[in-house]
Amino acid sequence: MPETIRPVTSAERPFYYEQTAALEGRLARAGVIHTPHGDIATPAFIVVGTAATVKGVLPADIAALGAQAILANAYHLYLQPGPDLVEQGGGLAEFMAWPGPTFTDSGGFQVLSQGAGFKKVLAMDTKGLASDDVIAPGKDRLALVDDDGVDFRSFRDGSKHRFTPEVSMRIQHQLGADIIFAFDECTTLMNTRPYQERSVERTQAWALRCLGEHRRLTDQRVGKPYQALFGVVQGAQFEDLRRMAARDLAASLVDGQAFDGFGLGGALEKENLGVICRWINEELPADKPRHLLGISEPEDLFAAIEQGVDTFDCVNPSRTARNGRVYTSQGKYNVDTLPNKRSFTPLEDGCDCYTCTHHTRAYLHHLARSKELLFYTLMTIHNERFHVRLVDQIRASIGDGSFDDFRGDFLGRYLG
Ligand SMILES: [Zn+2]
Repeated sequence: MPETIRPVTSAERPFYYEQTAALEGRLARAGVIHTPHGDIATPAFIVVGTAATVKGVLPADIAALGAQAILANAYHLYLQPGPDLVEQGGGLAEFMAWPGPTFTDSGGFQVLSQGAGFKKVLAMDTKGLASDDVIAPGKDRLALVDDDGVDFRSFRDGSKHRFTPEVSMRIQHQLGADIIFAFDECTTLMNTRPYQERSVERTQAWALRCLGEHRRLTDQRVGKPYQALFGVVQGAQFEDLRRMAARDLAASLVDGQAFDGFGLGGALEKENLGVICRWINEELPADKPRHLLGISEPEDLFAAIEQGVDTFDCVNPSRTARNGRVYTSQGKYNVDTLPNKRSFTPLEDGCDCYTCTHHTRAYLHHLARSKELLFYTLMTIHNERFHVRLVDQIRASIGDGSFDDFRGDFLGRYLG
């Protein structure tokens, strides 16, 4: 560690990453992220609770299905109920009565995805498209970015707002999550190369402003738990931009404050996901954690973990659950289809979740057809358990060296 970084003891700042296992000669690793609200064994799947709730599921049931941490969304909580109210409620974890570590993302992705106004998923297929002004049909542009920040309109009521790096840091400090993210410009694969270059420069400038504001706010947080700030690596599909962005963030230091970890953000082509993670993680320091934003498909999880990613989050398991989509080790299916009407077997044979140990496909099919609220709860428990358990198994396979065999077996069944 360079001498210019202020030395910190674990008592003063109880956040650090510890590697416990690795695949020889590869980036894949297992470890522990120590936070003020508890440890996270990594790799880990972080469950998303956008508005300080995993829709339809009790915090106790989220803990019971093995989730180690919850990620909420700064943008949504800023609009409703407001960060000052969450702060008054004791911070995100206490406000939502979640006993473990929490994350908030910076709001950049949500704000700017309204600007682009199209698919809100990060892994996208954009063959044949290239434009800085792609807007989905029928959508108004809700966000405009400049070098200082972003003007946007609320998706709730159309009211006008402005996020800057400093505003995002203040909001995330009020929300009080253990891990927070620097405010970045999240581009899309449609943006041109010159735009991506300018955007990476802008995100780096914003990263330094986030570090400065985070330092100032941290010094004011006397007696409150330390919050770890992650810088977000952008650069789309360009190797030189991704490597440069990672190096610049890793070297960033403002008033003695460096980034505590890193987020891998932005648009990722599915087929290049692993190689982009490799470019970035080859540049990032090994003693800090790395979080991949917005990824959950099993093949993507294996690809990213192989290239040294530690944590993930994604709304997909719960969002698809509410639409009746069931994840299993044999692939996905919809429970709301005729063959399940008289099927008195669990959603997945052998699954240890509450739903599968108590209920049948026939019951879930009935709840879906009746539009019963319990449907959302039971489906979400199963899908979240599926993702948490899969990443737990991958972690174990790094520990005992069986990663390649496990991946081959699992994806053979899952994709087969
Ligand atoms: Zn299950």
